Amino acid sequence: MTVNLHVHRPLHDNETGLYSMSVADDAVLPSFKEPLQAQRSEPARSNARLSVGLHPWHVASADLDVALRRIEEAMPVADAVGECGLDLFVLKGLADREKLLEKQLAAFRAQLRIARAFSKPVILHVVRAADLVLAIREEFPEQTWIVHGFRGAADIASRLFEAGLYLSFGPALLGGKDTATEEAFRAAPADRIFLETDDCEIDIDDLYERAAALRHISKEAMKQITEANFHRIFVS
Ligand SMILES: [Zn+2]
Repeated sequence: MTVNLHVHRPLHDNETGLYSMSVADDAVLPSFKEPLQAQRSEPARSNARLSVGLHPWHVASADLDVALRRIEEAMPVADAVGECGLDLFVLKGLADREKLLEKQLAAFRAQLRIARAFSKPVILHVVRAADLVLAIREEFPEQTWIVHGFRGAADIASRLFEAGLYLSFGPALLGGKDTATEEAFRAAPADRIFLETDDCEIDIDDLYERAAALRHISKEAMKQITEANFHRIFVS
């Protein structure tokens, strides 16, 4: 089994990880339990897991009360809350930026409270908001937080690690252009990292190959690292 931490499609046969769904997506929602139940009924895919949340991109147009109720309803079959979090990039240049940021903050905190009530880990979407997330971390110091699709410099990554967070790295490691993220990945402690394809049509194995090369270890050793981390949070 290869850990693919965060995807927006059912997991492949050789993968274990979280199928992430947004409660704002009405096309997906009425049947959000079915993909997981179908996956779990197949022995080969019994490691399939589900995360349910309100993505910060959907906060502006969402009815927050409805969204939060849907997340709570999903908790009995979900393994994590998310992705949720803060995205300051999408607010750039908007006239009602302050109001929308308040709404993102309210949605994020409400989802963290749900995670606390149901003792679930949280998958975070964080774009240009590391400082805000670290400030909010002080209100929820006991939770397991995994920042998905991390992109950024090693100093930001190390501040997130110091606060106890996990970081999941994605397609940014491919292509050889995002040297800051590559550097952050190389310096990251092995017991705090994941790999993910997110919504990209790439092969998770190619990502492992690249990640292993960056850390000068074998692909097998890279797989053991994320498997141990996944097991610690979601299995044991
Ligand atoms: Zn995603």
